[in-house]
Amino acid sequence: MEKRIKLGISSCLLGENVRYDGGHKRDNYLADMLGRLLEWVPVCPETECGLPVPREAMRLVERDGSTRLITIESGIDHTDGMLIWIEKKLKKLEKDNLCGFVFKSRSPSCGVTDAEISSPYGIFTKYGDGIFSGKFMNRLPAIPVEDEERLHEPTVRENFIERVFAYRKRYLAL
Ligand code: SF4
Repeated sequence: MEKRIKLGISSCLLGENVRYDGGHKRDNYLADMLGRLLEWVPVCPETECGLPVPREAMRLVERDGSTRLITIESGIDHTDGMLIWIEKKLKKLEKDNLCGFVFKSRSPSCGVTDAEISSPYGIFTKYGDGIFSGKFMNRLPAIPVEDEERLHEPTVRENFIERVFAYRKRYLAL
């Protein structure tokens, strides 16, 4: 029997209550429609690195040439703990035979090119990748990635699915 294609996904998109406010961002198309065809591998960087639910919201701050993950109100820097967790998680994900990853848009941990990055004074500076999604794409650059907002666009969705199948054929021969 043919194995189901495995894709990573930000856990909150499957309806898991892992967001900073205790809620989720369930995407019915991903959870129900694609969930019948694929095997999702849910990942929530913020809770899996040890942060609680609920928790203080965070943002990305560019400081002294590096991008830091910092709580918005109290200014606690969670970057180091997150980076240690990311290193361990990526070693595991490298062996998981993922054929793609769907990230949560605009998140400081999971966003793909659209996470807001601020100055140390909280002034918006630019858009970039989330702290986890950026490391994931650097480590596994051939794996197709998208975010749930862009996947609402039928042509983007079609293109993503084609890239997922092409990746599986080329790299995994499943
Ligand atoms: S966006 Fe990422 S870090 Fe935030 S709740 Fe969803 S899975 Fe967790």
